[in-house]
Amino acid sequence: MINIVLFGPPGSGKGTQAQHLIEKFNLKQISTGDLFRYNIKNETELGKLAKSYIDKGELVPDQVTIDMLTDELRKPSNTNGFIFDGFPRTIAQTEALEKIVRQELNSEISICLSLVVDDEILVQRLIKRGETSGRTDDSDVEIIRNRIKEYYAKTAEVAELYKKQGKYAEVIGVGNISEISEKLFAEVEKIK
Ligand code: AMP
Repeated sequence: MINIVLFGPPGSGKGTQAQHLIEKFNLKQISTGDLFRYNIKNETELGKLAKSYIDKGELVPDQVTIDMLTDELRKPSNTNGFIFDGFPRTIAQTEALEKIVRQELNSEISICLSLVVDDEILVQRLIKRGETSGRTDDSDVEIIRNRIKEYYAKTAEVAELYKKQGKYAEVIGVGNISEISEKLFAEVEKIK
C-alpha cells in the first residue's frame, strides 16, 4: 500500500497535486475538513458538534476527529492506499493515525509530502483566487497571513515526527504544475 500524508499551506496547490497523486497511484483521498463540511451540511450530530469549533476557527477535539477518520478508513475501498489531507494536525492525531493504519489496513504511513511555497507567493495566489472564488478568507491580506501562520504553527511539530522517522520529503510548489507533480511522484517511487 501507499499511504501519503499531504502537507501544504493554503495556496500551495495541495488540492491540484492531491488529484494528480490519486490518479497516478490509484489512491483514495480522505480530507477531514471535507468530512466535517459534509456532516455539517447534512446536520448530523457530528456536524453540529464540529460546527461549534470550525466556526471559531478552532480545531475539533482529537477524539472526535480520530473516530470520524477511523470510520472512513473502515469503508471498503479497492485503491492502492490513501492520501490523508488535513490530518494529522496534532501529535495525538499523528500517533492515532499510525495505530489505525496498522490495525485497520495492516500497513503504515509511507511518506509525508510537504509542498513548500514562499509566503509572499502564497499571499499573491490567494488574493488572485479571492477575485473569483468569492471566499471572504481569500480577500483580506491579514486573514491570509494569519491562516499561513496558523498552518506552520500546527504542522511544524507533526512534520518533525515524520522527519525523525525518515518519512518526510519537501517539494518546491512553485513553477510548472506537471513538473511539481513529477517531483512528488519521484518521492513516492523512491519508497515503493
Ligand atoms: P480544512 O478544510 O482542512 O482547512 O479544515 C477546516 C476546519 O475543519 C479546520 O479549521 C478545523 O476546524 C476542522 N478540522 C479539519 N481537519 C481537522 C483535524 N485533523 N483536527 C481538528 N480539526 C480539523
